[in-house]
Amino acid sequence: MADRRAMDWPFFEARHRSLASSINNWATKTLSRVHEHDVDLACKGLVRRLGASGWLKHAVGGRAFGGTEDAIDTRAICILRETLAYHSGLADFAFAMQGLGSGAISLFGTEEQKKKYLPRVAAGKAIAAFALSEPDTGSDAAALSCAARAEGGGYVLSGEKTWISNGGIADFYVVFARTGEAAGARGISAFVIEPGARGFAIAERIEAIAPHPLARLIFRECFVSGAQRLGEPGHGFKVAMATLDVLRTSVAAAAVGFARRALAEALHRATNRKMFGQALSDFQLTQAKLAQMATSIDAAALLTYRAAWLRDQGHNVTVEAAMAKMTATETAQHVIDAAVQIFGGQGVKSGEVVEQLYREIRPLRIYEGATEIQQLVIARGILKAFQENTHNEATR
Ligand SMILES: Cc1cc2nc3c(=O)[nH]c(=O)nc-3n(C[C@H](O)[C@H](O)[C@H](O)COP(=O)(O)OP(=O)(O)OC[C@H]3O[C@@H](n4cnc5c(N)ncnc54)[C@H](O)[C@@H]3O)c2cc1C
Repeated sequence: MADRRAMDWPFFEARHRSLASSINNWATKTLSRVHEHDVDLACKGLVRRLGASGWLKHAVGGRAFGGTEDAIDTRAICILRETLAYHSGLADFAFAMQGLGSGAISLFGTEEQKKKYLPRVAAGKAIAAFALSEPDTGSDAAALSCAARAEGGGYVLSGEKTWISNGGIADFYVVFARTGEAAGARGISAFVIEPGARGFAIAERIEAIAPHPLARLIFRECFVSGAQRLGEPGHGFKVAMATLDVLRTSVAAAAVGFARRALAEALHRATNRKMFGQALSDFQLTQAKLAQMATSIDAAALLTYRAAWLRDQGHNVTVEAAMAKMTATETAQHVIDAAVQIFGGQGVKSGEVVEQLYREIRPLRIYEGATEIQQLVIARGILKAFQENTHNEATR
C-alpha cells in the first residue's frame, strides 16, 4: 500500500501488512506510467505478469482453483488495487477485470466451471470479462433486454452488450441475459461465453478517456450449452449484484491509490517549484490545499477499509461499500484536480502523471454503479434501518 502508516490501522492482519509491502516492492520495480500505444498488447502483458508473479491468485476464490484463500479476501484485493493504481492505472485495470470477470464463477460456479476457468485466471493465462450493461440499460440493469431462450439442451442468445471492458481480448465473458422466468430482475440468467461461439461478435471497439480494451458485443442467435449457465435460471441478477458487491469496495481502493499518487506528485512539485522568492509549498494557500487533500484521502481510505473489513467478517456491506465507493471516487476527483492546479500549465501536459490521473479517475465515478446510484443505495439502506428500528420500538 502506498501509505505505510495506514497499515497500522486495526483493519489489517499480519498477512495484509506483508502483502502490502511485497506488492509495493514489486510495483515500484516493475510498473510505470508510460503511455501505451497498443492497450490490448499492454493489457495482455500485464495480465501475464500479474499472473506469473502470483498477484492474481487473490482475484479468485478457492485454494483448489488457484486462489490464495478459500473465500475472496476483500482487504487483500483492496490493498493490491490501491497499490497498483498508485503505480499504473492500466495494471490496476488488468487486475480488477480478472476479479470482476471471474467473480461470478468464484461465487456461483459449479465444480467443473471453477476447474475450467479459475486456475487459468489466477495464472494470468485466461482473460476475463463481465457483460451486464446494454446500450439502453446501464444504471437500470434489471431492465436489460438481451434475450436467452431455452432450446436444444441449451440457450440461444440474441441482443447486445456495451461498455464491456476486455471486450475483444477476453478468453471468456460472463454474460447476463433475460430468460424470462419472471418479470424484471427475477427473469435473468448468467452464462459463460467464449469468443469462438457461433453468432457472437465484437460489434465495435470503444475509445475512452483513459484507454483500455472496451467494446460493444453482439449476439445473433448465439447457442450456448446448458453447462455454461452460471447459477440457477432466473437468478442471474443476484449473481451480478453479489459479484459487484465484492468488487465495489475495491473500486474505492483504486480511487484511494490514484488520489495518494496525486498527493505525492503535488507535494514534490509544491516543494520544488520556486516563485515570488520561495517554494510554492511555503504559501498558506498551498498548505491549505495539501491539508485538505491529505485529510480527505484518509477519510476515504478509512471508509474503504471499514467496508472491506466488515465484508471479511461476513457482514452484508451493501451500504458501507456504497459509501466507500461514492466517497473515494468523488474525493479522488477533487484531490487530483487540486494536484493539477498545483502543477499549473505542466499539469495539463499530455503524459504528465497528474494529467493521466485526471483522465483515469473519471470513469470510476460512473462504472459499477454511478455516484447517484450509490446515493440511492445508501438512502434505501438507512431508511430501511430507520423504519425497522421505529417498528421494533413501537412493538416493544
Ligand atoms: C470505462 C467504462 C468501463 C465499463 N466497463 C463495464 C464492464 O466491464 N461491464 C459492464 O457490464 N459495464 C461496464 N461499464 C458500464 C457502466 O457500468 C455503465 O456506464 C454505468 O452503469 C452507467 O450506465 P450508463 O452509462 O448507461 O448511464 P445511465 O444509466 O444512462 O446514467 C446516466 C446518468 O444518470 C444518472 N442516474 C441514473 N439513475 C438515476 C436516478 N434514479 N436519479 C438520478 N440520476 C440517475 C446516473 O448516475 C448517470 O449519472 C463500463 C463503463 C465505463 C465508462
